[in-house]
Amino acid sequence: MVTRDAACSCGQLRVKVEGEPLRVSVCHCLACQRRTGSAFGFQARFPRDSVSIEGDSREYVRISDEGEPRTFNFCPECGGTVYYVLGSAPDVVAVAVGAFADPGFPEPGRSVWESRKHAWVTLPPAAEHGE
Ligand SMILES: [Zn+2]
Ligand SMILES: [Zn+2]
Repeated sequence: MVTRDAACSCGQLRVKVEGEPLRVSVCHCLACQRRTGSAFGFQARFPRDSVSIEGDSREYVRISDEGEPRTFNFCPECGGTVYYVLGSAPDVVAVAVGAFADPGFPEPGRSVWESRKHAWVTLPPAAEHGE
């Protein structure tokens, strides 16, 4: 089974995942833009059972517009958010795809919050749109 390793900038907080992601998505919402410092969030969901976490993390809980808590886990040393958990899906872990530092990572199959999309961003032709 394929395994992949994600890490923060300093390498202190690490996540190992087994198997392919349940879902790979990009989110163009303004909160993801602020969280990542980039034009969109890019994340992959895995079943919690296939995720192992090493290192210390701190949590930041953001309440979504729909009232759902999202718990972001970031490295206390370098500040990088490596993974987060949605209140509505506690058995799933979303890992920030950039933390894999792998340009060969599977492309996003879904794109959400396109009303906030930067105009220059072009998505894979097969991506589905919306939640
Ligand atoms: Zn770090
Ligand atoms: Zn978002």
